[in-house]
Amino acid sequence: MLAAFKNGLRRLVTRGRGLVLAYHSIHERPPPFDVWHHLHLDQFATQIAYLARHHDCLAVPEFLAETTRGAPRAHPVAVTFDDGFANNLRLALPVLAHYRVPATFFITTGALDGPWPLWPDGLALLLARTSADTLAWHGEHLPVATPAERTACYRVLVRTGKQLPVQQRTGFLTEVAHAAGLDPAELGRDNATWSPLDWHELATLAASPWVTIGAHTVSHPMLSALAPDAARAEIVGSRAALAAHGIDARYFAYPYGGSADFDDSHRQMAIDAGFEAAFVADAGAVTAATDRFRVPRLGIGSDCSPAGFRYLVSGGALLS
Ligand SMILES: [Zn+2]
Repeated sequence: MLAAFKNGLRRLVTRGRGLVLAYHSIHERPPPFDVWHHLHLDQFATQIAYLARHHDCLAVPEFLAETTRGAPRAHPVAVTFDDGFANNLRLALPVLAHYRVPATFFITTGALDGPWPLWPDGLALLLARTSADTLAWHGEHLPVATPAERTACYRVLVRTGKQLPVQQRTGFLTEVAHAAGLDPAELGRDNATWSPLDWHELATLAASPWVTIGAHTVSHPMLSALAPDAARAEIVGSRAALAAHGIDARYFAYPYGGSADFDDSHRQMAIDAGFEAAFVADAGAVTAATDRFRVPRLGIGSDCSPAGFRYLVSGGALLS
């Protein structure tokens, strides 16, 4: 009774406010250790089924129009995906189409040109495939014998890699490969869990009536670490690369998307590049007052239980 009341109260408080969910990768077979942004297909399907039943699931253009009007439907939700994983087409799209839930996919265009995954997933791939018990890393020995140790090691190395200039990432992954006792060519081996889309797969994804394609830079840099010209080239370049393949990307998502990862100058660059809205990774509800170039999103990861998901999309987490 009390729980029902609280849930009702939350729905009342969140009435008229929109929520945007941010997903990344969907997998069928669990990776050998937990990587937050990779969700199991069953977990994802349960969440989408729940959304389809209890919310107005809108494509981003419609969602922005509804929330801008100031009197949107009761509980509008927009589903988004970042980075451009091949599994988005193979696994996520059939679920979305089945439940008639639209989604927007923000594509890191440079990843579609080459065989390597985006660097955090290249890192995860190496840690998934190593048979080493420890990684010798700059004078330290990072344990990787158990799944929990691999998850911890992944987090440490992601923090390191995120700080590196884009040009040093290949060297960074090569170094990790050697520390893991693997050939760096392993990164180019096709893998259903970690691989990015290729351009042909993106065209198939974009052709779906449930799909909107957005841009997510060329090489997924931390924009705040770049010189202005380089940051502009990343933002404009991803839109141009999609346009060259016949895709008009009207929306943008900042890589990493936290408040330290970009600033007002990048917001202005997104406006100047012709985007109509840009999305961040900070949690929040979307109202008529929300800055269209800082649209908040709720990140959904592998730690999201069914009850946690219901709580999150009820807006409960945003009330505390
Ligand atoms: Zn991303």
